[in-house]
Amino acid sequence: MDVLGIADTLRERFCRIERYVAMRETGQILNNVRVADCADGPHEVRGCVRNDLVRTLSDALPQGTVRLGCSVASADFSPEGCSVTLDSGEVIACKVLVGADGVYSKVKAVIGGPTTEYSGWSTYRGMATFKEGIPNRPQDIPNFAQDFCLMNGGTQAGVAGLYPLDTQRCYYFFGFPVEQNEATKLKKASNAEKKTDLAQRIVAFPKRLQEAVAYTAEDDIFLNHIGDRVMEQGETWGRDLATLVGDAAHPTTPALGQGGCMALEDGPELAAALRDVAQAAAVPWAQVPAADIEKALREFEHQRSTRCAPLVAQARQNGRRLTVKRSWLGVLIRDWFIRMYAMNPATQFKHTIWTPPSLDVPASTPVAAS
Ligand SMILES: Cc1cc2nc3c(=O)[nH]c(=O)nc-3n(C[C@H](O)[C@H](O)[C@H](O)COP(=O)(O)OP(=O)(O)OC[C@H]3O[C@@H](n4cnc5c(N)ncnc54)[C@H](O)[C@@H]3O)c2cc1C
Repeated sequence: MDVLGIADTLRERFCRIERYVAMRETGQILNNVRVADCADGPHEVRGCVRNDLVRTLSDALPQGTVRLGCSVASADFSPEGCSVTLDSGEVIACKVLVGADGVYSKVKAVIGGPTTEYSGWSTYRGMATFKEGIPNRPQDIPNFAQDFCLMNGGTQAGVAGLYPLDTQRCYYFFGFPVEQNEATKLKKASNAEKKTDLAQRIVAFPKRLQEAVAYTAEDDIFLNHIGDRVMEQGETWGRDLATLVGDAAHPTTPALGQGGCMALEDGPELAAALRDVAQAAAVPWAQVPAADIEKALREFEHQRSTRCAPLVAQARQNGRRLTVKRSWLGVLIRDWFIRMYAMNPATQFKHTIWTPPSLDVPASTPVAAS
């Protein structure tokens, strides 16, 4: 965000998370770590509402760069050039095609290669709005205005997270193991049914989480099937003049909180790769040889898969650990593990360390992001 010059705009809107707290579903605190005490800092953690993020990113571009409301029906590419056909039938020709269209990417489907696999768990996400301000009840969750609370379920599994976005809104998620056909049925349910289902699944969780669900508009609750794709470090995922970024390229479970961060890292890395190839060719962009661009795209993918593959693998492992059903003994052992080893200031944010390329835009102080 700093490299793109939009960090301060977002800082003004979203509050800073100061502490991570791990607790049982009963509310009993197992461990905690202050962000300021974590190694390799300074770190900065904020929950950011997606629409605000997308608008802030697009507002930073010259007017007309982003065209909204265009649904891509199909994509085509070759060593000579690319095009996309919109649902309206309009064809847009382009020199390079970047599929940033998420887990179910149409561009990825045309390029081919291994697809996303269901991970065995699904997640509800919601955003609660407290018009009078988020109530502070230290007896329930201490320092709620600054804490990221991770609540670990008992024998029935499930994991919930809850943290503030600003003074009025908070975000939460609840992940739970569920068979794929059952998850598909849930996905088809109405928003009101989803809200009721979520409320029933979290009856054993802290009141604060239940209250957040109650304060959420039905339209602000989402259900996602969690999937990922095992990757190899150094692999490439594009073809000819087409590449992928974000979840289209490296779908991951959210259990490391890095899917969006990796997508955001892809942007400046790809921009720098294309800028470098254009500068090296020393000709206007339209005349840069396709073979040079293709080479730069494969190098970009190689570099990004080297960064992302271990994160995808770690997120898969974390997801299994967080959503597996356990006996009471298993729950006690898990809690002991959280007390002893989780939330270690030496390693808490190690995976977020990434050095952004210089993009020659005004920047504020760079920090690692989560
Ligand atoms: C429960 C949950 C919790 C998460 N928590 C975190 C977290 O804490 N931190 C984090 O960094 N990440 C988190 N993530 C991951 C994060 O949401 C994704 O990694 C991120 O949204 C990927 O961004 P993307 O732009 O690649 O894809 P998406 O966000 O899926 O965006 C794709 C875009 O492409 C558009 N699109 C799709 N198809 C077409 C088409 N045919 N034509 C035109 N447009 C199209 C879609 O409308 C959408 O706007 C979480 C995910 C989940 C499910």
